[in-house]
Amino acid sequence: MTLAMDVARLLNCEADERPCGECNPCKRITGQLHTDVRAIRVEGTGREGRGRTAISIDQIRDLQKEASLKPYEGRYRVFIVDGAEQLTEEAANALLKVLEEPPEEVVFLLLTADTGSLLPTIISRCQRIELRPLALDIIAEELVKRFGTEREQANEVARISGGKPGWALEASGDSDMLERRASQLDTVEVTLRQSIEGRFAYAERLGTAFTRNRDGVLAELTLMVQWWRDVLVVSQDKTELVTNLSRLDALRAAADGLSSDAVASAIKAVQETMSHLERNVNPRLALENMMLTLPTIN
Ligand SMILES: [Zn+2]
Repeated sequence: MTLAMDVARLLNCEADERPCGECNPCKRITGQLHTDVRAIRVEGTGREGRGRTAISIDQIRDLQKEASLKPYEGRYRVFIVDGAEQLTEEAANALLKVLEEPPEEVVFLLLTADTGSLLPTIISRCQRIELRPLALDIIAEELVKRFGTEREQANEVARISGGKPGWALEASGDSDMLERRASQLDTVEVTLRQSIEGRFAYAERLGTAFTRNRDGVLAELTLMVQWWRDVLVVSQDKTELVTNLSRLDALRAAADGLSSDAVASAIKAVQETMSHLERNVNPRLALENMMLTLPTIN
């Protein structure tokens, strides 16, 4: 998405060296105010009250309509389909029609982590750009340079980013994001030390949140998987592979009391719960079940 936004700025920038990031169109695109640049992603809640899990045909019909119009304020209309693997089949087919006869002055950017889920006919209409993870020390270096981040924190953010520079830049410019993450990790560590009441209270909170904020809950569980993975690498004395560097003490304490098998089962339990949730089982039951399975930590 970071790169896609840069392409949108590049196409509409008014400076000589594009994208400048400073001119009016650049700023309007960054602020998501530019009328010619639009991101399409899974959004809102379905009619039946359940969280939507796909980009719908209605969203692509809107895109079709807008794409047939001349750019309103810029040189190009840019549509960024964020999570193109989440198009429903009919939405994908509707998009394919637009891609087969692309209007002039319109650029479509399809973002996906899984090209295998796209229609081959769509892929054949696109120019593919593959993005690979960047070396972590390059990311850390850049954070120190751009934001004056402390070296230790820069290293941690780089590791958390998993090599995604856009994520690392955004996180470093947004202290709330890192604080929220830290407080979620605090909750994980506290809850895993608790008896069944505390664990069920956690399951209930996440279960309730899931109906209105599906992605948020899945992100919290991903964080939990990452935390357990850290416990595993610590128990194998591979500290250099730890993601959450600032948590080393808690990770060591947890690793001390558990066998590697127990930790590996914990990782599996959380991952299975995530796939159950994605298949729309009763969220609270699935989460309670997970909390019963996870071992108690030191
Ligand atoms: Zn510009």
